[in-house]
Parts: sequence; structure tokens; C-alpha cells
Amino acid sequence: MVESYHRACTCGTVYQRTESMAPSREIASFECAVCGATLEAWNTAWVPSYRLIAEPVRLRQLGRKEVIMSHCVVVRTYGGKLDQLRGEAYRIARDNNTDWWAEAADTGTKFCFENAKAKALFSAVCERENVQHT
Ligand SMILES: [Zn+2]
Repeated sequence: MVESYHRACTCGTVYQRTESMAPSREIASFECAVCGATLEAWNTAWVPSYRLIAEPVRLRQLGRKEVIMSHCVVVRTYGGKLDQLRGEAYRIARDNNTDWWAEAADTGTKFCFENAKAKALFSAVCERENVQHT
């Protein structure tokens, strides 16, 4: 009989664990592919195998973009004004040969830029357009 169940690492990664009979006794361990923590160490002929089925959302959000683009402005505006700001962000980023992105935040929409200058220019636009920003 093969046992199969889900097992979550402390970092939030979820694995499907299955056990199977190995030809001989094995001494080994399984480390989380995301954080490197040891999920299990064994010294038996019943060898578990892990298959990653869900990565932690928190880590995915802390991906490359979040780390590099730390220059963010949260604006509180919606609809057409927000579309206009997206256009401005695009233009500023292009003029500064940099990248940008926007995402929903608790208090509005977060615009992030790769450099501080682009962020400053974007803040100036918010100022000019009388848009509340932080
Ligand atoms: Zn982990």
C-alpha cells in the first residue's frame, strides 16, 4: 500500500509525499526546494518521495521585481484617473529607460519603479494631478 499525503514546510511550500519500497535500505533526507529546510531524514527501505505542489504566495510576491523595484508610490484614485496615471508611469519609465509595474494595494494602487528618479517624477505627476499618494 502506498501512502500519500500533503506535507507543508515551515516556509509555506506544500509537497505531496508518497512512500515506496526501495530495493535496499537508504540513508537520505529531503530538503525543501524553496528554503532548504530538511523536511525528513530517513534510514529505511521505505523511501519517501516529495513532489512540490504549491509554492508559498508570500515568496512568490517577494520575487525579483519586488526586491529590485523598491521605489513605490501608492495612489488613491480609480477609473479614468488611474488609467491616466498608468500612462504617465509608462511614459516616465520609458523616458528613463527603466521598468515599472502596478499592483493592487490595500489602500489603492501601488506603482513601483526601478529607480528613485522615476518614482520622484511619478510623485510629481500625482502632485500636479492632485492625486493623493504616499
Ligand atoms: Zn521550505
